[in-house]
Amino acid sequence: MGRPFKNLEERIGLFLHNIEVDCLGCYNWLGAISPQGYGRSSLFVPYISTDLCHRASFWLYNGYLPEIVMHSCDNRGCCYWGHLREGTHSDNMKDMYNKGRGRYQNGESNRSSEISKEMASIIWNYKGKMGRYKLAEILGVSKYIINNIWYGGQWNEVKEQEWIQ
Ligand SMILES: [Zn+2]
Repeated sequence: MGRPFKNLEERIGLFLHNIEVDCLGCYNWLGAISPQGYGRSSLFVPYISTDLCHRASFWLYNGYLPEIVMHSCDNRGCCYWGHLREGTHSDNMKDMYNKGRGRYQNGESNRSSEISKEMASIIWNYKGKMGRYKLAEILGVSKYIINNIWYGGQWNEVKEQEWIQ
């Protein structure tokens, strides 16, 4: 039985031990993965109050933790600091939108079934953070869609999900 408490250096050692580098240079997390595909580890929770590995990695390398950490490699399980960058809500939203686009092409409809699940998730996560008119404009969706998600009980399945942090 080891000592009950590990210092930061030991935690970093354990962290690096659970990483596998792939041919694209991604550091894939070999431990637990969240339902959204992010690596999870409790190693740095005492320091940064998050168990998401990519966030921990950004913090270890840069010495601070921004509100949003984005992957430039598009691989959520990657925790290579060189593939991580600080993002803004707007970046995050555009990125998610670009990945989820295709099912919804114009702003005419008020049927929220026409948007992707990712888009619904984005909309839900902006509740209280941005006005619906501005959000509708940025995302190119009808404000009715936003209303339906925020207040109308549509897309309830995305509301329990952990979002990109
Ligand atoms: Zn990567």
